[in-house]
Amino acid sequence: MKAVVYDGPHQVDIRDVEDARLESPRDAIVRITSSAICGSDLHMYDGRTDIGSGAVLGHEPLGVVEEVGDAVELVKKGDRVVMPFNVACGVCYNCVRGFTNACLTVNPKQAGGAYGYAEMGPYKGAQAEYLRVPFADFACLKLPGEPGDAMEDDFVMLADIFPTGYHATELAHVKAGDSVAIFGAGPVGLLAAHSAMLKGASEVYVVDRSPARLKKAEEIGAIPVDFSKGDPVEQILEMRMNNQMIMSEKRPGEEKMPGVTCGIDAVGYQAVDWEHQDKNEPNRVINDLIRLVNPTGHIGVIGVYMPEDPGAEQPQAKQGEFPLWFGELWSKGLTVGTGQTPVKSLQFLLRDLIVSGHAKPGMIVSQDLPLTKAPDAYKEFDKRDGWTKVVLHPGMQA
Ligand code: ZN
Ligand code: ZN
Repeated sequence: MKAVVYDGPHQVDIRDVEDARLESPRDAIVRITSSAICGSDLHMYDGRTDIGSGAVLGHEPLGVVEEVGDAVELVKKGDRVVMPFNVACGVCYNCVRGFTNACLTVNPKQAGGAYGYAEMGPYKGAQAEYLRVPFADFACLKLPGEPGDAMEDDFVMLADIFPTGYHATELAHVKAGDSVAIFGAGPVGLLAAHSAMLKGASEVYVVDRSPARLKKAEEIGAIPVDFSKGDPVEQILEMRMNNQMIMSEKRPGEEKMPGVTCGIDAVGYQAVDWEHQDKNEPNRVINDLIRLVNPTGHIGVIGVYMPEDPGAEQPQAKQGEFPLWFGELWSKGLTVGTGQTPVKSLQFLLRDLIVSGHAKPGMIVSQDLPLTKAPDAYKEFDKRDGWTKVVLHPGMQA
């Protein structure tokens, strides 16, 4: 079968690899109809992880069941299914409590596993014609419709990006009526904005510098904030202070709450300093959120930070240390939520929001391409401008 293979920094290729096959009676083999490229795939592509060359990439799979092992009861050949990027057993101490992102049995190195990802266990990637799905009864979420229909791009977002955007709003405690600021208008930031609006947020600001991404943010109903034009925190504070509709009906003392209630970091360690925009400053976004979020508010950090990052510029970041304004954070009484998404617990409700027509996460997809176009797609997506979200389709003709 054909698959996307990592060959080294900034080098991926399409190659024939060993066919996916049943390795346990609980496995299924899924024929992939859509497989998205993720911003976190770029961490490997950019050479910021220790993934070995020859690894098959991809962890956002949608497809049709081709074959099931003898112990699989709930899915059968021909079912249309989406799988979480988390590989999880469904029965360990963490899985039964809903934390499938921290499954204790699928990865000898640490809690949590995933398809096609550095440090996340021995699972092959999903940017391929076929995928082996362990614990198929638990992993596979059945979907209505037919491959290639109008919901194809919406459904593939259920593997990672839509639950991850939604999870960011959970980490940041977003509720109806809240004001929300999201740093980063990549796929996760955009779907965090979409999720915040589904939850009924009153104001949603999205900070980025890519004109294409800011335009997308505006299209989905958010207020775009271009940090290439100045301090994004000051821009948002100014917009709120100058908005008479917001400021004219304040309660006594409320002028001490000029910021937002909920802040989301959808950037992670690749943050840049708005004053020197070619300079990586990994703690920039979190510190900006500490400045921007009102006392008693909430910060959700969905952007990735690594425990060790040998490729980092700053000596502290190499060790996974990020200096924070912790005093300000504490005195404001902010809460901070972090970590990977337990996709399984969110997939059902988000699928139903898609099927009912309320959610349309596929609107962030900018390119649908044949699998064979993966090398070009990685190159363009890595520029982080214009190509918002790429979906590869193994069955599509070049
Ligand atoms: Zn992903
Ligand atoms: Zn488990």
